[in-house]
Amino acid sequence: MSSEPKFIVLLGPPGAGKGTQAALLQETLGVPHVASGDLFREHLLNKTKFGRQVVTYIERGELVPDDLTTAMVMERLSQSDCQHGALLDGFPRTIGQAMALDQALSERGQRICRVLSIVVPDEVLVERLSGRRVCRSCGAVYHVIFNPPHQDGRCDRCGGELYQRDDDRPGTVRYRLKVYWEQTSPLIEYYKQRGMLTEINGDQPIEKVEEELKAAVTCDGRG
Ligand code: ADP
Ligand code: ADP
Ligand code: ZN
Repeated sequence: MSSEPKFIVLLGPPGAGKGTQAALLQETLGVPHVASGDLFREHLLNKTKFGRQVVTYIERGELVPDDLTTAMVMERLSQSDCQHGALLDGFPRTIGQAMALDQALSERGQRICRVLSIVVPDEVLVERLSGRRVCRSCGAVYHVIFNPPHQDGRCDRCGGELYQRDDDRPGTVRYRLKVYWEQTSPLIEYYKQRGMLTEINGDQPIEKVEEELKAAVTCDGRG
């Protein structure tokens, strides 16, 4: 493997397993997991001014406008731990964001080396999102049936309290999937045309998806 920076994008609808897989892949790849949703939720938790600007979009399951989102993510990518790459989860989510990312990376003499698109049928996504539980302290992701913690309501990693995200309630889940199909799924074609896309079947056990993703992350130049 070359010393080229490893900017890898995990693409996929809400519930596809991006966060779960990113947590597993970041060690193998040696680059940090950068999740736009986690960055937003940190602002909400800390009640920042930026958080107040974006809270309504997130509660409704709408996308935050491109300029705000791109500025937040690029600020994160400018930190020193992202110098050699990052595992991007949940960003880009629109063609506008993808173009802004290409532009910003090329100004740094860098580029995305691979886009991994995790494919899962909508009915499975609804089941996954409604059973998702997240650790309040460390952000670890569980599922009440498919990936339960050892002790009910407690995080295996840190003992923190598990909670259900407000936007994982049924009404918002359906709306977020609609938003995905309308605004994010065009990215599949965008990256396919550029020869950067690998599609992975995400409707398999977590370990199997992990194995296929690892095999697809080659970062060997042209792609
Ligand atoms: P999921 O893990 O279910 O795909 P995320 O945690 O990535 O959801 O995102 C939660 C919410 O944060 C989204 O519904 C949206 O409101 C906002 N958000 C996250 N990433 C982006 C983005 N790249 N562009 C616009 N909004 C975003
Ligand atoms: P995303 O970040 O794409 O929104 P998550 O990683 O948060 O998705 O996963 C959504 C939910 O589905 C979580 O509850 C997670 O435990 C569960 N999950 C993730 N991958 C799988 C899988 N391969 N099979 C079954 N459930 C899964
Ligand atoms: Zn935890």
